[in-house]
Amino acid sequence: MMNQPFNPEMLILARESREYSQSELSRLISVNQATVSRVESGVLEPQEELISVLADRLRYHRSFFYQTDKVYGFNSTVFFHRKRQSLADRVLRKLHAFMNITRMRVARLVRSGTLESPFRFQQIESNEYAGGPTAAARIVRSTWMLPSGPVRNMTAAIEDAGGIVVGMDFGTRQADAVSEWIPPQPPIFLLNCNSEISGDRLRLTLAHELAHVVMHKFPKPEIEEEANLFAAEFLMPRKEIKPSLYGLTMNKLADLKKYWKVSMAALIMRAYELKTITDSQRRYLFINVAKRSGGSRIHEPLESEMPLEEPQVFDRLIKTHVHDLAYTPEQLSNLLFFDDAQDFRSEYLGERRLRLVSG
Ligand SMILES: [Zn+2]
Repeated sequence: MMNQPFNPEMLILARESREYSQSELSRLISVNQATVSRVESGVLEPQEELISVLADRLRYHRSFFYQTDKVYGFNSTVFFHRKRQSLADRVLRKLHAFMNITRMRVARLVRSGTLESPFRFQQIESNEYAGGPTAAARIVRSTWMLPSGPVRNMTAAIEDAGGIVVGMDFGTRQADAVSEWIPPQPPIFLLNCNSEISGDRLRLTLAHELAHVVMHKFPKPEIEEEANLFAAEFLMPRKEIKPSLYGLTMNKLADLKKYWKVSMAALIMRAYELKTITDSQRRYLFINVAKRSGGSRIHEPLESEMPLEEPQVFDRLIKTHVHDLAYTPEQLSNLLFFDDAQDFRSEYLGERRLRLVSG
């Protein structure tokens, strides 16, 4: 490993993944900013001692700084997000850094482990089909052999088709997900599992990101609307849901929410889209949902009854390395660049939830 030269791009990833600016990092490690800047631009080869300090403060195993993977940059077109316009630059950089690092980890786990699911992802050009995104959603549902009716578990559906879903706390509510598909790697969905975000919202987010991954190779103006149409058809297939969207009342909405595991807002929008309610009915229902939400725009009624889907595959790949491939904690840290096992636990979400539960 040490035969490889220090790779400045990895330092930038490590720094941005921790949301530090160059000057903040330089203060943190007590060197001047010019040094950090020169190391990052590749002009200055850092001493062993500095590398140790960087590894320690940025909480990566030192092997990380010698990796040679291709890094996709901040302005790259490979990423899709479900985010607000107001998302701060540094948070976006953090998410991109995490996506790059997660892709590197997945590549190593898949290389030495086994990904058992048959790979069922395929690119669908939505304009090849008369039905556009709606037809694309039907094609994916049928190639994935999903039964009709509600998608029981959106996360499992993606994972069964060979995708990787990774949950982490983004530290903000301004973004819900980042996704990418760079063959031959499996598609990766980085999902904001901030404890404030409800299960039905995560499901809709995943369906939306799935649309980008299968339909959109390059950004274009219509992609957000297309992704929403795809997600609506994927989670609420027109043929099956339309008959129950006439004469919507609050009680009916509550039942439909429990059955389809989507938000009342999504159901109202779907009904309006399918022309089973008028514009004034739509507005009336939205006002009533808002009233029952206690004025909260974020929390709808029945949120606690929505399932919180847990990603499994990433976790399983790591467990395979520990149990079947007999990796020691040190070997695993080395492979995945975690500073220590504890960091792994806090970074990816499964165990953060456990900790929340156990107080
Ligand atoms: Zn989107």
